[in-house]
Amino acid sequence: MIQTPDFFDPALLNKYNLNGPRYTSYPTALEFNNEVNDTSLVAAATDSPTRDLSLYVHIPFCHQLCYYCGCNKIVTRHADKADRYLDYLAKEIALRQKAFKHYKVGQLHLGGGSPSFFSIEQHTRLITMLKQAFDFKANAECSIEIDPRHVDKQYLTGLANLGYKRLSIGVQDINFDVQQAINRIQSTSHIAELVSHARETGFDSVNLDLIYGLPHQTEQTFKTTLAAVKAMDPERISLFSYAHLPDRFAAQRKIKEEWLPSAQTKLALMKLAMTSLTQTGYALIGMDHFAKQNDELAIAQQRGELHRNFQGYTTLGELDMLGLGVSSISAIYDMYGQNPKALNEYYAALDAGTSVVVKGTQLSRDDMIRRDVIMALMCNLQVSIADIEEKWDIDFYPYFAESIDKLTPFIQDELVSVSATSIDVDPKARLLIRIISMSFDAYLAGKLHQQRYSRVI
Ligand code: SF4
Repeated sequence: MIQTPDFFDPALLNKYNLNGPRYTSYPTALEFNNEVNDTSLVAAATDSPTRDLSLYVHIPFCHQLCYYCGCNKIVTRHADKADRYLDYLAKEIALRQKAFKHYKVGQLHLGGGSPSFFSIEQHTRLITMLKQAFDFKANAECSIEIDPRHVDKQYLTGLANLGYKRLSIGVQDINFDVQQAINRIQSTSHIAELVSHARETGFDSVNLDLIYGLPHQTEQTFKTTLAAVKAMDPERISLFSYAHLPDRFAAQRKIKEEWLPSAQTKLALMKLAMTSLTQTGYALIGMDHFAKQNDELAIAQQRGELHRNFQGYTTLGELDMLGLGVSSISAIYDMYGQNPKALNEYYAALDAGTSVVVKGTQLSRDDMIRRDVIMALMCNLQVSIADIEEKWDIDFYPYFAESIDKLTPFIQDELVSVSATSIDVDPKARLLIRIISMSFDAYLAGKLHQQRYSRVI
């Protein structure tokens, strides 16, 4: 088994630490255009061979602004905004219901913003609307992200009673100076109490989010954060890299450059977290998630059966995904479609009866083939040539001659091996998987594109 420090060969990381997409979709959101609409979404749902659906509901509201945040959110103190939002979600659900009546919902995820902005009464209204409109499987996996500052035990019990089984809590960092600099002061003991109450009240799985690269973080402070998180014994941990892009995200202008750890310290923080978590018994999933060895994600990864969608890694195979709410993205068979990013535009489309999907892309056959290859690499570090040839009726190597050519430097550095049966990425190149996958991306010819993505590390 590979030791985590093996990922951190400085020469390799320096050589290949370029900007690259995260490939939550292929083609990536940069290729979205305004040539798709609600009609394309309905057509894709009709044509799709998949009958399993994942629902994503975006709840954009937050009580307070975290300065590092790059999400689509609306900071407000007006709780009644949630009622109006639910009225519009009801309209959107009614609009989508017919096209998805032949699907079974296997997964529901509430993200944001802060889904915990909703009261339990508002959550009850949402779940009731969803269950009336869509056919949920009895064992549908229902998950929700919460902001621990605005949640108590009673609230968690309310969510558990509504059927939520997976909980994701934003911890980020427990150090006070860091919390102050990011405007997110929260109590660690309160989070620990919520985690243990979640277990008692029926949640199967708790995920804790951490961020490295935040202002004032040092190896010493992050060690303390990691120890506190491990003590809470979550089933999963997400470890995100903070990308400081103040030109794109106004809130980040409140974070002074000089507060940020150097590139060298940031790499050391990542290495510290990866080493510490894997030594504690967590398996590294993809590039930035950790799961207990007996967690279904870790088992799926060992079996080469991991999948990836806009909600992250999943074991549930290739479900179609319907996004509901402002800015949410749907991924249905051969199309991606996104709702308006601005709340007033989302409301206006539903009032006027115009298309709620305002941008996205219709995938060509070539896009779909490449998507399969890129997702196999991103999830399982391996592409089965036979699987792709059989599914798409192509001769893999002639079809991908140009891509294989682009793999040459990785092959020469013994990071990738290519044989008649498979393409395999050496585990020590795991942190470079985005860069390796770019070899199969047909849209990356322009240098301009690369500058739009964050650096890999
Ligand atoms: S990090 Fe989460 S809680 Fe904070 S502003 Fe962003 S979406 Fe809201």
